[in-house]
Amino acid sequence: LPELPEVESVAAALRLNLLGRRFTGLRVRFGGVFADRPRRVRRALRDRTLIDVHRHGKYLIMNFAGDVAAAASGPADPVSRGGAGLVRDGRSGADGSRGETHLMLHLRMTGQLLCLPDYRPDKHVHATLDFDGRRVHYRDMRKFGRFQLVEDGRRPAAIAHVGPDVLEVRFAKWYERIADRRAPIKALLLDQGIAAGLGNIYVDEALFRAGVHPTTPAAALDRDELRAILRCSKDVLRLAIRHGGTTFVNFTNFHGKPGNFRRKLRAYGRTGEPCLRCHTPLERLVVGGRSSHFCPRCQPAR
Ligand SMILES: [Zn+2]
Repeated sequence: LPELPEVESVAAALRLNLLGRRFTGLRVRFGGVFADRPRRVRRALRDRTLIDVHRHGKYLIMNFAGDVAAAASGPADPVSRGGAGLVRDGRSGADGSRGETHLMLHLRMTGQLLCLPDYRPDKHVHATLDFDGRRVHYRDMRKFGRFQLVEDGRRPAAIAHVGPDVLEVRFAKWYERIADRRAPIKALLLDQGIAAGLGNIYVDEALFRAGVHPTTPAAALDRDELRAILRCSKDVLRLAIRHGGTTFVNFTNFHGKPGNFRRKLRAYGRTGEPCLRCHTPLERLVVGGRSSHFCPRCQPAR
């Protein structure tokens, strides 16, 4: 299950490999991974240059330049010049988007973007995006991932229900949203409406580092403890990003390589193994339907 660090590694790879490149084609084998009709996506993006890749929580938003004429250096395609839905050529949109076009992607359970030389798409590759000769394959065994054209490159209406990105949220704002809640801290950290991006693995790691039991109600924690939890959450995510994420089941990065953060995990998946701090065997508990791994001594229940 790709979490924030895996999604950030995809965003970084897209920026490194594709920024400044022109979108030249889209081949779709299974249209169900698009919220819009593939033909509409193709028309909206064709000949536009990728100018930014933004991540918000586990959402990726690719921003394409508004001015097709300036960007296009290859063969002109009259079809792409028609206003296709969201495209507002050359004019400033009410949101200041200057006619940019935005394609959002959520990988969900098993989505992957792959950019490998000589790659032969298998039956799980549902779409191939072409950036001026550089091919990016969208592979998704469970088919839950979605591409969607959106009207804004930072916070589109489609994710209005999603809270601020957990790596960007300031403590004061996050504290306001969480301080009085009676729910277990683990459930609140997983609540994407409070802050977006933390998943099961990294919540367990953050709570282990902060020394807080997963069932502790947020309201039972003081300001300093909550501050430590948010800081540990950001630390563990940044560390995982540096290691290319944690690889489980079949997530590999843009170039087909696994992330190596798994070796750095201190709590997640270590039930029965000795705590790295006090040697007490770690325990497992289900909190809000999610498997939680913790040290009963370093993270005492309250
Ligand atoms: Zn311990």
